[in-house]
Amino acid sequence: MVSGHPLRLVMVGRQGAGKGTQCVRVSHRYAIPHISTGDMLRAAVGAGSPFGQLAKSFMDRGELVPDTVINGVIAERLDQPDARLRGFVLDGFPRTKDQAVELNALLAPASLHMVINLEVSVALVLRRLSSRRVCSVCGSIYSDDLPPKTAGICDNCGGELVQREDDTEAAILRRLEIYEKATAPLLGFYAEMGLLETVDGVGTPDEVLARISEVLAEHGFYEGG
Ligand code: AMP
Repeated sequence: MVSGHPLRLVMVGRQGAGKGTQCVRVSHRYAIPHISTGDMLRAAVGAGSPFGQLAKSFMDRGELVPDTVINGVIAERLDQPDARLRGFVLDGFPRTKDQAVELNALLAPASLHMVINLEVSVALVLRRLSSRRVCSVCGSIYSDDLPPKTAGICDNCGGELVQREDDTEAAILRRLEIYEKATAPLLGFYAEMGLLETVDGVGTPDEVLARISEVLAEHGFYEGG
């Protein structure tokens, strides 16, 4: 990081572009919290709270959870001391222009430093998503492109690999459709703000991370600790 200044970063891209994988790595390399709305919602579903049950009904169909629900969740998380002090890498939020406007309002008078669009073709994300498996313990992500050393077992922690409940063909197609309709317009919004950087998301996780680091370095952000 630039002499202890925070880094406030948003990662966007189609489902399966590698956002989750890269956000974990960026979070470690730059010592900033990884804030994933999908992970937060899945935790609420796992806890079985009424809020989680409401969210699940949308998530299982691949639909977006209403803004009234998600905006409160993100506002509370961004207000935590780690995010206020160090910044964050946001994964899965904002997903619509309205959410982007809400994010700007939540951060004011501070603002985002950069929005990275991880670019990957629809054909490739479809292949990755249909073979995606997630560690039930630590959340590490695998696919045919990035297989575990032992089938069904997480390389990092030995946890069992499972398929996400919303990685069904129908829900995947619906999520990609929503991405084109609701999320792609975000790119224009952030380009107008001068924040958008596009990074090629095809390659090994190390190759993609190197590209992200290069873009961040061009803006004066270096590995933190
Ligand atoms: P993800 O793990 O980012 O693919 O998110 C999984 C699901 O959680 C999505 O398909 C949505 O149903 C819901 N979700 C996550 N983030 C948001 C958001 N910013 N707005 C609305 N719904 C969201």
